[in-house]
Amino acid sequence: MGRVFNKVAIVTGGTGGMGVTHAKALVAEGAKVVVADLDDAKGEALATELGENAAYIHLDVTKEEDWDAAVAFTLETFGRIDVLVNNAGIANAAPITEFTPDMWRKIIDINLTGTFLGIHAVAPVMAKAGRGSIINISSVEGMRGSAGLHGYVASKFGVRGLTKSVALDLGPSGVRVNSVHPGFIKTPMTEKISHDLLPIPLGRPAEPEEVSQLVLFLASDESSYSTGSEFIIDGGLIAGVPHK
Ligand code: NAP
Repeated sequence: MGRVFNKVAIVTGGTGGMGVTHAKALVAEGAKVVVADLDDAKGEALATELGENAAYIHLDVTKEEDWDAAVAFTLETFGRIDVLVNNAGIANAAPITEFTPDMWRKIIDINLTGTFLGIHAVAPVMAKAGRGSIINISSVEGMRGSAGLHGYVASKFGVRGLTKSVALDLGPSGVRVNSVHPGFIKTPMTEKISHDLLPIPLGRPAEPEEVSQLVLFLASDESSYSTGSEFIIDGGLIAGVPHK
């Protein structure tokens, strides 16, 4: 029996860097996973690779109708929804004088509104069942500022705050809601960033699989008393202020 045996999870952005490793870790520990993302060819291929305990659905997290379809598909395919990993996200950056309203609207729409829509779609199902774990992927940029990343920082602070208000609402129903705050993780999102850009105490960026272990913990009953909390996984990056 795996750590998440027979739990049913939806992973958004499931064909991206960390989405893939989250889906693989969950299936390896006994869960059934709906991989949800935009690239249908990649999604279908991943679901085939993962086997009978995985399925793929096209989901643009900014579209309410896609969320309704994803919830219906998950219930039809696997019969329940225990875990939602709100992982889909984008990054964009520019000095504030060049950061356009369109850049702002796009990133808030995907990173923050997409997370809200996911919660909104699964909350009734989880509350009715009296159980569930919603895992919202924020960032260390949801804990501190970062030059140029105005929309990213605002969206990730928003995800952190939304996590807490929803945790308060859903706690009495037995549904837990937590945020995860990764530091520098090796994925397509960060592939152009030099590995020594940041003063990481552990001296390296993380492999995406390392973050998946935390997601697995939050998806499992091992985290049964954690809700409304922030889980930082950053190699010590924001533990202190580097000296000049
Ligand atoms: P990634 O490799 O770029 O994967 C992100 C995935 O989200 C991609 O598959 C992307 O699809 C998908 N996506 C984008 N817009 C979407 C939408 N509207 N609807 C559904 N899916 C959408 O990035 P990652 O590094 O794995 O990031 C995963 C999460 O971790 C993000 O929320 C990110 O902000 C967060 N995070 C990452 C790091 C890091 O260092 N990598 C650190 C902290 C937090 P397309 O590729 O087709 O656009």
